[in-house]
Amino acid sequence: MDIKIYPLGAGREVGRSCLIITINNYRIMLDCGVHMGYNDERKFPEFQRLIKKFKKTQIEEKEKEKEKQQETLNNNNNTNNNINATYKFVDKKNNNQDYSNVVDLLIISHFHLDHCGALPFFTELLGYKGPILCSQPTKAILPVTLEDFRKVMSEYKGQMSILKPEQIKNCVSKIETIEINETRIYKNDIKVTCFYAGHVLGACMFLIDVNGNRVTYTGDCNTIIDRHLSGAYMPKIYPDILMTETTYGDKIRQTKRIREREFIKKIEETLSRGGKVLIPIFALGRAQELCILIDSYWKRTNNKAPIYFIGPMAQKVNFYYKLFQNWMNPAVKSVFTQRNVFDFKFVQQSDKNLGDADIPMVIFATPGMLHGGFSLNLFKKMAPKTKNCVIIPGYCSPGTVGNKILNGEKKVEIDGETIDVNCEVFYMSFSAHADQKGLLQLVNNIEPKNLVLVHGDFDAMKKFKETCQKQINAKIIMPENKENVTFNECFKYEQIGMKRDLVKIIESLEKVKSNKNKSININSIIYDKKNNLIGLKKIKMFHKQNNKITNRINIILKNEDALDIFINIIKLKEKKCYNDFINLTEKKILNYSMNDTEDGNKKICFEYQYNPNTLDGNVINEKCLDVIKSFQLINKAI
Ligand SMILES: [Zn+2]
Repeated sequence: MDIKIYPLGAGREVGRSCLIITINNYRIMLDCGVHMGYNDERKFPEFQRLIKKFKKTQIEEKEKEKEKQQETLNNNNNTNNNINATYKFVDKKNNNQDYSNVVDLLIISHFHLDHCGALPFFTELLGYKGPILCSQPTKAILPVTLEDFRKVMSEYKGQMSILKPEQIKNCVSKIETIEINETRIYKNDIKVTCFYAGHVLGACMFLIDVNGNRVTYTGDCNTIIDRHLSGAYMPKIYPDILMTETTYGDKIRQTKRIREREFIKKIEETLSRGGKVLIPIFALGRAQELCILIDSYWKRTNNKAPIYFIGPMAQKVNFYYKLFQNWMNPAVKSVFTQRNVFDFKFVQQSDKNLGDADIPMVIFATPGMLHGGFSLNLFKKMAPKTKNCVIIPGYCSPGTVGNKILNGEKKVEIDGETIDVNCEVFYMSFSAHADQKGLLQLVNNIEPKNLVLVHGDFDAMKKFKETCQKQINAKIIMPENKENVTFNECFKYEQIGMKRDLVKIIESLEKVKSNKNKSININSIIYDKKNNLIGLKKIKMFHKQNNKITNRINIILKNEDALDIFINIIKLKEKKCYNDFINLTEKKILNYSMNDTEDGNKKICFEYQYNPNTLDGNVINEKCLDVIKSFQLINKAI
């Protein structure tokens, strides 16, 4: 067991997600993002650290000294909007080949810039040539968000971006795609499985498994089904490590319906006093969610006030949503043949200069967080008037204008101009991140041995950690950027998994014992000998005569392993440890059978009985390691 984690970004911050995990000498980069709140060196992950850390050179000491001096310089200058400083790493004398030597695989969780914005820099300027993996929608949308970012950097900040459009195209063309629930293998040993993350179109969570050492990563996720996407789901896989985002780790949100009602109420109030509503938003994701909401409300109430959507990517949005309808929630999918919920009746795209228009209207404008572009230009015009209103529908990184006005600042500096903020400012969280409840549910469902908190502000993380400590049985850490974390005490997942199954069985036993007529159901995932996830195990426990408990297990298997496993169940009876197991637990296999199911799978039924009195709360001790091993054996067999 050898797993190390080294955050280059997203360590106690939201922005520039870039997590380096090393499993058995393979190094995987999870996300490659930029920080929207900074325009100095903190905008990018410190890629050069990778070379320094993982590829020792003779000039290391000299570089360290130079870097120290540079850090002191940067700390003194970090309010300075010096874009060129951002690209300092480009000038480093690194052999381009080096990055491909120290990173074996790069995975992008979704198209938000704080997860992918630095990707073209890493591939086109630093020369990373290794594999890059993401979902199909993410790959399709990446050119749009990256190109928009490139333009915002060059046009709105008055600086020429260092990247060219061809370089972005070239970067994206190197990406390989993966489907939900698909497993890909890299370099013979790195197994990557992809799961649905909700959040935004194409967002994924990942399981990385190197010879049974397993790390899971949530990227950004949302556990709740919304107006267009389904909720995040990862099965119970008992990983050694779960790295989870914690953006809203300290918040428990009101129900979505209440938030939606408030949103509409604020808009109506502003329009009725003749004001304009500005909703700074990223063009993909929440924009669709809120447009569906407001469009259907306008339809119901016959409202006449115009709704505009301003952003360079707006035209392309519907195309992607039509293209990837299989990623939508069941409700959207079911109506898709009759109508496309993304063809809005009232929301119209516009490139007009609406800042000076003096009629009540609703304007969605990109980008979110008010860190540049259309939304910031409109904000400059609208902010001084008291009748106007700005609704911030999601998280704003520190340093952005969005963050400043949410903190109540009444005067903000934008491009050397001081803007009075007299308009109303509201924060309504439509951000597609799981809240504390959702995150806990996800963690409980996955049951990791170690929990690593990333992608959250320090306070949010700390509160989430405190809550987790009371509720889950895992070691929890919240590493800083550039902090090394080594995990060497992890057991193999089977042991953890089985031990936890055992705890669960014992807990359930108590319930069964105290309530004789009720049965208890336990669901868990099963694996084959190579640790591939192959099916779902349903255990039904119920009380029988003689004070004994019967477990009836139904397994549906999708591959040919079924026969193998069935033979193992039969063979199991002859093995010595099974007899030991019976002695210790009075556990006995009663029946077993295997049948074909209607859809061509195999169904194995397996029933065993044991005496609950031999399995009480004290069972988890040294003596019972044998039992756990036997359980393991049975688990391997079934
Ligand atoms: Zn995101």
